[in-house]
Amino acid sequence: MTLGDLELTPLLDGFFRLDGGAMFGVVPKPLWAKRAPADERNRIHLGMRPLLVRGSTKRLIIDAGIGDKMDPKSVDIYGIDRARTLDHALADAGLTAADIEVVLASHLHFDHAGGFTEKSATGSLVPRFRNARYIVRTAEWHDATHPHERNRASYLAENFVPLKDAGVLDLMPDDGPIIPGVRVIRTGGHAMHHQIVMIESGGRTAVFTADLIPTTAHIDPPWIMGYDLYPMDTLAFKRAFVREAIEREYVIFFEHDPKVAAGYIREKDGRKYVEPLAA
Ligand SMILES: [Zn+2]
Repeated sequence: MTLGDLELTPLLDGFFRLDGGAMFGVVPKPLWAKRAPADERNRIHLGMRPLLVRGSTKRLIIDAGIGDKMDPKSVDIYGIDRARTLDHALADAGLTAADIEVVLASHLHFDHAGGFTEKSATGSLVPRFRNARYIVRTAEWHDATHPHERNRASYLAENFVPLKDAGVLDLMPDDGPIIPGVRVIRTGGHAMHHQIVMIESGGRTAVFTADLIPTTAHIDPPWIMGYDLYPMDTLAFKRAFVREAIEREYVIFFEHDPKVAAGYIREKDGRKYVEPLAA
């Protein structure tokens, strides 16, 4: 889609599956299963949709999917299906990984940062976007490199430590601009330093909400993932954000929705729903 001077292209790094109960926290299964049916292992179907931003400045990608380094056990547990990967999606957009100049991380969990690195022919781990600078929030970098028992399974060092070793890492301490029209805002909640990306051009706003609103089934404020470390922070941020998104007609990019890459959040008779953006 076109947003002012910018061209926004939702990409896809394939699909995966996570436990439906964990994806909806305190919401009972009879309610969430209507929006997201579970498979025989109680998992729901999810996408991984990094966002490509192009304009007069640098070619930027937000997050990069799960990548190809997951071991067979994880591929089974998470039902990872990468018949179509980020490379296919970039090719459809007329690009290769080498054309990306800036890689921006919403946070460093493996389903967002897995595609940041790859194994080279000699088996060493190298940046996957070889001509890019990688931008990570300073405190998120700290948390990812100092995991605790509750978040250790989400932060895999192979996805981000090689960026520092290669000298392509730029740490950003606060909210602020990345390239013209693109800025980040910390949400907390999912992780203490999880951030969303505001994209503003031509008087319109699009938002890459990452794990604040992972799918269209998560637009109701209390539909919060059990994975979130600070769910009350998610609730406070999401309640205000969703109100703002409805009033100002933000285009929302849903990183994990299995079907809908982007849409508007609408409200009718007190019920919230997503009007998908025509592809
Ligand atoms: Zn995620």
